[in-house]
Parts: sequence; structure tokens; C-alpha cells
Amino acid sequence: MAINLVNIRDFATDKHAMTDDRPFGGGEGMVMKPEPLTAALKSSQQGKASRVILLSPQGRVFNQALAAELAGESRITLVCGRYEGVDERFSHRYVNDEISLGDYILTGGELAALVIVDAVTRLLPGVLGCTASAENDTFSRNLLKHPQYTRPRSFEGESVPEDLLSGDHQRIEIYRFIASVQRTLARRPELLSREDFTSEEIKLLRQYGLYEKVAELQAGRQG
Ligand code: SAM
Repeated sequence: MAINLVNIRDFATDKHAMTDDRPFGGGEGMVMKPEPLTAALKSSQQGKASRVILLSPQGRVFNQALAAELAGESRITLVCGRYEGVDERFSHRYVNDEISLGDYILTGGELAALVIVDAVTRLLPGVLGCTASAENDTFSRNLLKHPQYTRPRSFEGESVPEDLLSGDHQRIEIYRFIASVQRTLARRPELLSREDFTSEEIKLLRQYGLYEKVAELQAGRQG
């Protein structure tokens, strides 16, 4: 994997290296000019097509599914806005997707781009020491990951759950699955409405008295 950083200012053509100008129609702030953006984009693409993503609070909100989708792309260009954003004609002509980090306003797209680079990179083969750790992460399913413990077995009077110390692989898996559902129910119940459980998992949910709550959330999805 390679990251090619391009400074848009290097593609300004006037003597003050201006990449922004006042908005037509008046109002506050400055707008990024389309010509330097286009020249910077073309230079970064080096004649090879890429999926062009504009970081924007008006885009679709970034999540793990989108990170996985981007990890499947061979080339991505992340365009970082500043000031009031970019001239709309640049977006119309060159941008394939707009992505937002969430419903708040950053000063520029750079931090958002770094977040995306980090989330996507760790999904690429060979980046994490253990692939399974990304496969079992929170949001790889519509579930929050189960709580984690390490040594010592007892910390300030609080012990590691017995199931995790049992050495019984199946018991550990069941503990983790149930703890994961319980945590999701407590913190992000809306996720569960989108999750498809296997028949074995549904049996476990019934056994641990969680099925009705989950079924209620899933009925909301269909209703
Ligand atoms: N005036 C714009 C608006 O109201 O939609 C906000 C511009 S913001 C101050 C400047 C740049 O920061 C944006 O062009 C974008 O690249 C980046 N940015 C701000 N908030 C963002 C967010 N939530 N997600 C991704 N990028 C963001």
C-alpha cells in the first residue's frame, strides 16, 4: 500500500498561490477554486483512474461497512476541503462520493481523511498481526464486541468472569456471544434490529432470556 500526499497549493497558478476565492452571491468565508483542485487531482492520479472521495459534512456517514467497501478499491483519492468547502463544479465533474465523519463541522478534511486511511488500512491483508482481530471487531457484525480481560485474574477485588478462565472453547464462545448481545442491547440497541442471527444463536438467545428483546427490535425493522 502507498499513500501519495498532494498539496493543492502547489497547483495554484497566480503569484500569491491562491487556492480559494470569495463566494459568488456574497456571504462569509472563502470557497476552494476548481482549477487548482482539478490540477492537484490529475497530478495525484498520474493517469490512473481512482475513486474520488470528497470529505464533506454533507456526505454519507462513514462506518465499518463503508471502510470494508473502500478496502476493496485498488485506488482512492481523498480530497480535503477547507474554508466553506469546494466549488460545486469540481464536485459535479470529478467527485464520485462524498463522505462525512459525522454530524459536526471540522475545520478541514485532513483529520477526516486520516481517520478513513486508518480504518481502511487495518482491513487490508497483512496489516494487522491477526486477521481475525478485524473480523471480530465491533461493527464487523451489527454487534458491539464482548468485554475483554487480561492478567491479573483479580484486579482491585474484581475477578475475570469464570467462563473465560474455564479453558472450554465452546463455553468461552457462548460467553462472548451473549456478552456481546447484552452490551449491544444496553448501548446500541438499534444495531440489533439489523443483525441476522443463525438458528444456533437464536437458541442461545432464548436460553439466556434475550430473544424477546431482540425479536422486538427486529420486528421494528420489518414494521
Ligand atoms: N461550509 C461547509 C458546510 O456548512 O457544509 C463546512 C465546511 S468545513 C468548515 C471545511 C471542510 O472540512 C469541508 O469542506 C470538509 O472537507 C471538511 N469537513 C468538515 N466537517 C466534516 C465532516 N463532518 N466530515 C468530513 N469532512 C468534514
